[in-house]
Amino acid sequence: MVDLNGQYQGIKNEVNSSITEILESSAFINGPYVHAFQKDLEEYLGVKHVIPCANGTDALQICMMGLGLQPGDEVITADFTFAATVEVIALLNLTPVLVDVEPDTFNIDPKAIERAITPKTKAIVPVHLFGQCANMDAIMEIADKHGLFVIEDNAQAIGASHTFNDGTKKKAGTIGHVASTSFFPSKNLGCYGDGGAIFTNDDDLAHTIRGMVNHGMYRRYYHDVVGVNSRLDSIQAAVLKAKLPNLDTYNKKRWEAAQKYTQAFADHPEIVTPKIANKCDVICENCDCHVFHQYTLRILSEKRDGLVQHLNDNGVPCGVYYPVPLHLQKAYTDTRYNESDFPVTNQLVKEVISLPMHTELDDDQIEFITNLVLDFVNDQP
Ligand SMILES: *Cc1c(COP(=O)(O)O)cnc(C)c1O
Repeated sequence: MVDLNGQYQGIKNEVNSSITEILESSAFINGPYVHAFQKDLEEYLGVKHVIPCANGTDALQICMMGLGLQPGDEVITADFTFAATVEVIALLNLTPVLVDVEPDTFNIDPKAIERAITPKTKAIVPVHLFGQCANMDAIMEIADKHGLFVIEDNAQAIGASHTFNDGTKKKAGTIGHVASTSFFPSKNLGCYGDGGAIFTNDDDLAHTIRGMVNHGMYRRYYHDVVGVNSRLDSIQAAVLKAKLPNLDTYNKKRWEAAQKYTQAFADHPEIVTPKIANKCDVICENCDCHVFHQYTLRILSEKRDGLVQHLNDNGVPCGVYYPVPLHLQKAYTDTRYNESDFPVTNQLVKEVISLPMHTELDDDQIEFITNLVLDFVNDQP
C-alpha cells in the first residue's frame, strides 16, 4: 500500500546526519530538532501554534482536554472514520454522537450534524477523510450558529487546503478552533515511529495545551491541571524536519497517481472514482484540494470482496477503509442510534476499496493495477 523507501533515499543524507548528531548529543527528548520542526510547521501551515506530541490519537484527546470539555458533553463526529476519533471522546467520558457521511466525498454530512445537535452538544470533530477537507463552509457556519467548538481531525489531510465559498483559502487544520494530526509512518507526512501534533491560532488554548502535554506543568514540578505525558522525540522531529520541505512535492505525486487511476476508471458504470468537492481552479499549481491519503473507489456491483481477493491473489495490496461503521462496533453501540440514521455509511462499508497510494507509484504499476481492477469487474457477471 505504501513504499517508504523511495522517500527515504531522497532525504537519506540529511536524515542520517541529523540522527547521528542526536545520538552524539544524547538530546533525545525536547532537543533542538523538536523546536525547529515546530517552527517550520507553523510557517508551512500559516498557524500561530504547533504543539508536537506523541501520536495523532493523543493529539485529539489533548485537543478535547484543552477545550475543557466535561463528562456528558456531546461531541459529534463521523460514523465512517478510523476508531481513534471516537475512542478519545469515549475515554474522556464525553458522549460520542456518530452521524452519517456524504456518499461522494466520504466526509461528515453537515445536514446530519445539524440534526444531531442537542442542548448538550459542545463540539464537532470533522475528519478530513482520505486527504480532502470536509465541507468546512457549512461546518463553521453551524458551529458559529450553535456556539460549538470545531476540532479538525487532520491525520489524513496534512498539506491539503480548503477554498471557502468567498474564495479565501486555508490549510486543513487551521480552520477550526484546534486541530490534531498524526505523523504515523504511512500518513502523508510520516516519521519513522509515532508522532503527532496539535495546531491552533488561539494563544490561551496553546498555552493550556503546552502544559497539558507535559503532566499539566506550567512551571517545573507545579502541576496546575491533570495532564498527560505526550512528546514527539528528537529523532522523529529530525525526520519530519527533513521531510516537510518535500511535503508539497510528495502530495503532488499522490495527486498525479490519483489522476491516472481516475482516467483509467472514467465513466465505468460499476466504479465510482473519488470526487474532488473543492476544486482549486481545476488543476492548480499545488493540487492541494485533495492530498489523497487514500485513493478510494466505490464498487457498485457487490464485487468488492471478490476484487480484494483478486488483487491480493495477484500480489497487489489493497485496503478496505473502513469495513465496519463505528456505530456497529461493540465498543461504540448506543441505543440512541437507528440504522436509518446511517444509510450512506452502511452502504459505503460494502463498496469501498482503497488502491495502493504513495509517492513512488510509477506508470507501469498503475497500469498493472488498473488493468487487474478493470478485468475483474468487467469479467464478473
Ligand atoms: C491515523 C489516524 C489517527 C490516529 O493517529 P495515530 O498517530 O495512529 O494515533 C486519528 N484519526 C485518523 C482519521 C487517522 O487516520
